[in-house]
Amino acid sequence: MISAPWVWDRGPAAETERIYLPEWDRTRMAVTVRVPTPLRRFTADKAKVEVQAKTVGAALEALFKTHEGLRPHLLDEKGALRNFVNLYVNDQDVREVKGNETPLRDGDVLMIVPAIAGGAQVPMAGSAGDLDQAELIRYSRHLLIPEVGVEGQKRLKASRVLVIGLGGLGTPIAQYLAAAGVGTLGLVEYDRIDLSNLQRQVIYSTDQVGQPKAERARDRIRAINPNVDVVLHQEKLTSANALTVLGGYDVVVDGTDNFPTRYLVNDACVLLKKPNVYGSIFRFEGQLSVFWAEKGPCYRCLYPSPPPPGLVPSCAEGGVLGVLPGIVGSLQANEVLKVLLGVGEPMIGRLLLFDALDMNFVTVKLAKNPKCPVCGPNPAITKLIDYEDFCGLTPVTRTDSTNILPGDVKRKLDRKEEFVLLDVREPFEYEIAHIPGSTLVPMSEFQRRETELEPHKSKEIVVYCHTGARSAQVANYLRRRGYPTVKNLVGGIAAWSDAVDPSIPQY
Ligand SMILES: [Zn+2]
Repeated sequence: MISAPWVWDRGPAAETERIYLPEWDRTRMAVTVRVPTPLRRFTADKAKVEVQAKTVGAALEALFKTHEGLRPHLLDEKGALRNFVNLYVNDQDVREVKGNETPLRDGDVLMIVPAIAGGAQVPMAGSAGDLDQAELIRYSRHLLIPEVGVEGQKRLKASRVLVIGLGGLGTPIAQYLAAAGVGTLGLVEYDRIDLSNLQRQVIYSTDQVGQPKAERARDRIRAINPNVDVVLHQEKLTSANALTVLGGYDVVVDGTDNFPTRYLVNDACVLLKKPNVYGSIFRFEGQLSVFWAEKGPCYRCLYPSPPPPGLVPSCAEGGVLGVLPGIVGSLQANEVLKVLLGVGEPMIGRLLLFDALDMNFVTVKLAKNPKCPVCGPNPAITKLIDYEDFCGLTPVTRTDSTNILPGDVKRKLDRKEEFVLLDVREPFEYEIAHIPGSTLVPMSEFQRRETELEPHKSKEIVVYCHTGARSAQVANYLRRRGYPTVKNLVGGIAAWSDAVDPSIPQY
């Protein structure tokens, strides 16, 4: 295993060059010009140049004063902006304002956006150490990028990345990292492929339903890139094994869908001082960050404790747009490559909020919490804890006044006891399967249709949904409305399928 030199020497591209004006001419405004990658060879690799100018035209002239080579790439012989180059002030196209005469204010950002073909130029030759000829060809589009090159590609080959969860996020992450040439990929997943996974987990196919995810993902990764060493961890990640499993890798990628594993992964990464590339998704929204306690905040700095069970629905309860994990997972893979290569600015101390409906990316700053229970100076958590318990998810093993187990409901049905079995899922879920004898009132229609329950107010009511989260909310609501005996079926119809009737399909 390499011990990667996590040095943040990002080279000159990250610096801002400042061009200062003489004292007598300070009336002009300080503006940052963002130079795109293809033109940085004319700015000594600077990505940003600060100039002082009152208009776009003056800003360009100020830029050309020190970087004359840029001029023919931006302006034609007559001094007009070339038609394959666009200029934006903040996010507005200057052609929609006053072109070169567009006024600039202090702090404005002038962005140069040229057309990019997306192709590569000439394949590279030369010595590449332990990359063989087939690898040189395979990775040639990487080798052409100065930020990767042969050295970067060799670094990727020597890297070990652990992907936790092979669902919607984990599968695009694993495929892109394999294709990019990460040498060792660890995959943590013990689940099997379900028909309801295929809407977003495009690595799997219909004929693989019921087969182990980890094994089928490994087959696909080997087909993409046989140079990758795939290590399977087909077990549930727990406090007992997490430090051993994570300890063998350079970067950990969190592709999980539940809070206990998310906190477990965070705390283990903090204790092991490893970067944790975080992503999460729900319906149309995604989040992305890189938690690395050595260099910035951790997940607990952002969320010291999880929401109570049932308050934040999972994708199984609330749904997710099929393409969303592909987008967020690809962004996670991008962050992993940046961390491994030591290039760019990883999302350390920043949280990306993506909204697929608005098509909006917003980045907010994250600060390290000095009172963080795991990465702060006086941590309360110095070893891994019981995360199911911490998240309030300790399995209910006995009935109480608010919960009931599937086996107990079965006995009530068998004894023909009088009670209301209330299904609060959506009609399409009821179509997939339902417990015989149940009444459907979807949670989404509950307030309007609550009167349907009133004749049964004195009876015992057992509420169920898919996994128990929605039904817990409805049960609480009914108790507050004065229903005397309302119980939540623990684990929902999924637990019913496991414990009572396996012919009920899981979804
Ligand atoms: Zn923290």
